[in-house]
Amino acid sequence: AWGLIALCRAGFERELAGELDAFARELGLNGYVRANEGTGFAVFEAVEAIDFADLAQYCDWHALVFARTLMPWFARVDDLPEGDRAGPVVEAARAAGQRFSTLAVEHPDSDAARPLSGFCRRVAAPLAKKLAARGAMRVSRKGLANLHVIFTDEKTAWLAASRADREAPWPMGIARLRMPREAASRSTLKLAEAILGMLTEEERTVAMRAGMRAVDLGAAPGGWSWQLAWRGLHVTAIDNGPMADSVMATSMVEHVRADGFTWRPKRAVDWLVCDMVEQPSRIASLMAEWIGTARARHAIFNLKLPMKRRLDAVAQCRSLIEKRLASVGPFELRIKHLYHDREEVTAYLTLRR
Ligand code: SAM
Repeated sequence: AWGLIALCRAGFERELAGELDAFARELGLNGYVRANEGTGFAVFEAVEAIDFADLAQYCDWHALVFARTLMPWFARVDDLPEGDRAGPVVEAARAAGQRFSTLAVEHPDSDAARPLSGFCRRVAAPLAKKLAARGAMRVSRKGLANLHVIFTDEKTAWLAASRADREAPWPMGIARLRMPREAASRSTLKLAEAILGMLTEEERTVAMRAGMRAVDLGAAPGGWSWQLAWRGLHVTAIDNGPMADSVMATSMVEHVRADGFTWRPKRAVDWLVCDMVEQPSRIASLMAEWIGTARARHAIFNLKLPMKRRLDAVAQCRSLIEKRLASVGPFELRIKHLYHDREEVTAYLTLRR
């Protein structure tokens, strides 16, 4: 058996399954999707054999909104014996007829699978040793695929392959970021994760530099503003609510009490960020307007999703932005359900030059 496997936040399996199905079809794969509510993962089973090494290059983590990781899988080992979990996994890896350069032992982020983290840590070292001894892994060789062994329970392992340049920047797509004490709200981690995970290294260093100017719509109490100030940007924070003292103390933030939908800057800024809790379509239109009229060069924003029809809501926002920017020029729009996002997704929008 083989196909595609993706991890997600528990509760978002339906959205992930919908995307996985469309993605597989686009790649010309025949098969079906399996996903169970609350399990934190979804699987596409292909009916014909796949070339997983070839497929791995299309499995870019960015390709699906709701996937924390996305990979082709090439073997599933069931009924692993308690005394020897590693043996059958090693044989399945060998049967793939390819060598791997690294091993990651993972599990879905669900109530049922989270307790497997200790077990995964314990099996990782002996498993890596056996893989190397049996010739399935060559740590020194760059350019080989990375092997992921994903345990969905103690007896079931899925073997998947990833390419280093396509995979999520964090193990299992879980961004473990330290909460800065002065940052006013935990939502600062959302923006930090977006900057680290959604922008390329070049974008991060060239497009977001100290001395630049930013606007933060719906800024209070100031977690996002703090994140930008900490990176040396001058921030105009728009919110009728109060900003935290620790954020204002950076002296990089100017607080303006105004409505984020109607307020506009006197001159163009480098960055626009927006975390207002509003209908996603209203936010998407506002962001497209700022970018389309060159009021801001880059935007990072949250789209709060309704409980139902989340995929439809995302698609609607995408199409609103496409329509608004069609006459302006080519643009880049990335949307991800980040680790720190709950009932929302985070988007990055800019014009391509
Ligand atoms: N990103 C912020 C942080 O890191 O601290 C948290 C933002 S909070 C989720 C949403 C904020 O949007 C609230 O402070 C609310 O006052 C503000 N807001 C909602 N509608 C707004 C509007 N039309 N204009 C300005 N602010 C608005």
